[in-house]
Amino acid sequence: MNVLVTGGMGYIGSHTCIQMIDAGMNPVILDNLYNSKNTVLERIEKVSGVKPTFIEGDVRNKSLVVDVLKAHNIDAVIHFAGLKAVGESVQKPLEYYDNNVNGTLVLVDAMRDCDVKTLVFSSSATVYGDPASVPITEDFPTSATNPYGRSKLMVEECLTDFQKANPDWSITLLRYFNPVGSHPTGELGEDPQGIPNNLMPFVSQVAVGRREFLSVFGHDYPTKDGTGVRDYIHVMDLSDGHVAALQKVGSKQGLHVYNLGTGNGYSVLDMVKAFEAASGKEVPYQLVDRRPGDIAECWADPAKATKELGWQAIRTLEEMTADTWRWQSKNPQGYPES
Ligand code: NAD
Ligand code: UDP
Repeated sequence: MNVLVTGGMGYIGSHTCIQMIDAGMNPVILDNLYNSKNTVLERIEKVSGVKPTFIEGDVRNKSLVVDVLKAHNIDAVIHFAGLKAVGESVQKPLEYYDNNVNGTLVLVDAMRDCDVKTLVFSSSATVYGDPASVPITEDFPTSATNPYGRSKLMVEECLTDFQKANPDWSITLLRYFNPVGSHPTGELGEDPQGIPNNLMPFVSQVAVGRREFLSVFGHDYPTKDGTGVRDYIHVMDLSDGHVAALQKVGSKQGLHVYNLGTGNGYSVLDMVKAFEAASGKEVPYQLVDRRPGDIAECWADPAKATKELGWQAIRTLEEMTADTWRWQSKNPQGYPES
């Protein structure tokens, strides 16, 4: 199976390429390297023994996408490419709608021209907004509170309409909860540019000495210790979820929607403690005000993915934190420039 992986040089895409190779699939990567480095390709090869084809380019370039789909005889597409920083999306909404919404429309238009009718899309639990209760099932109402979330929701809606009009397509929306961790070899991991927005990259940069302390955003939430609770999922489990989606519903016509989460909720302080235990490093922190737009708690009901995809998250909190630390300690400044 030849699979175009847009954004395949990024955090989740690179791990997914490794799991795809392991499952006998042939990933072909299209990435503009806006948020990733060339070195990722060498690391994929080091870990998997296979160097995937890489095309440096933009998913919004329709003629390029058409050429790639044809030249590599593509059967299916996993679409990771996009921008993902919530705070930045408030400052640069146009860039977010252009990359995330327009990027997807151009991609689907190119796929239609080439008769490629299987698409797996990277969505997010952010489309549930502030859920009325937990755990969250796929039929919960959706909403958005920032341009990033709205871009994901818009794409979901566009793809839902498109699939309705084109019932012979298979379109899968995967709603990720909080991806963390890295490849167990420590060769690949999350390498944010600048100050990390997400909890675990920040925690690991504190542990490795790149930052002084963690600011814990909010300590008065109605949760067990007052800090926010999330469903952290190991990136290797998430990657396996994409392989399962392609294998189980990739050839089934229809619109398929799945939560990819563990079903467990951990607080910010749970994560700090687990990381300290895994790394043997102290992670100093300060309790500060809530971050605007954050919700108290969020975790998945992953039963639908288990039932229909035969997939479930199997990696523990200890593996998530130990693997994050292995990556961070082996690569304290992230990926080197090649
Ligand atoms: P990432 O930034 O590491 O990877 C995205 C990749 O896409 C990067 O390599 C970047 O260079 C590339 N890219 C961006 N715009 C592009 C364009 N126009 N054309 C070609 N390539 C482009 O992000 P990630 O964490 O791997 O996330 C992958 C996807 O999953 C994104 O769509 C993101 O919104 C979604 N997602 C991520 C999370 C998370 O917490 N990491 C959670 C939910 C959903
Ligand atoms: N968080 C924090 N300090 C940070 C980054 C995040 O306390 O520097 C908290 C945040 O308030 C939330 C949790 O960690 O409760 C996960 O945040 P993240 O940004 O990683 O993911 P989100 O669930 O917001 O998408």
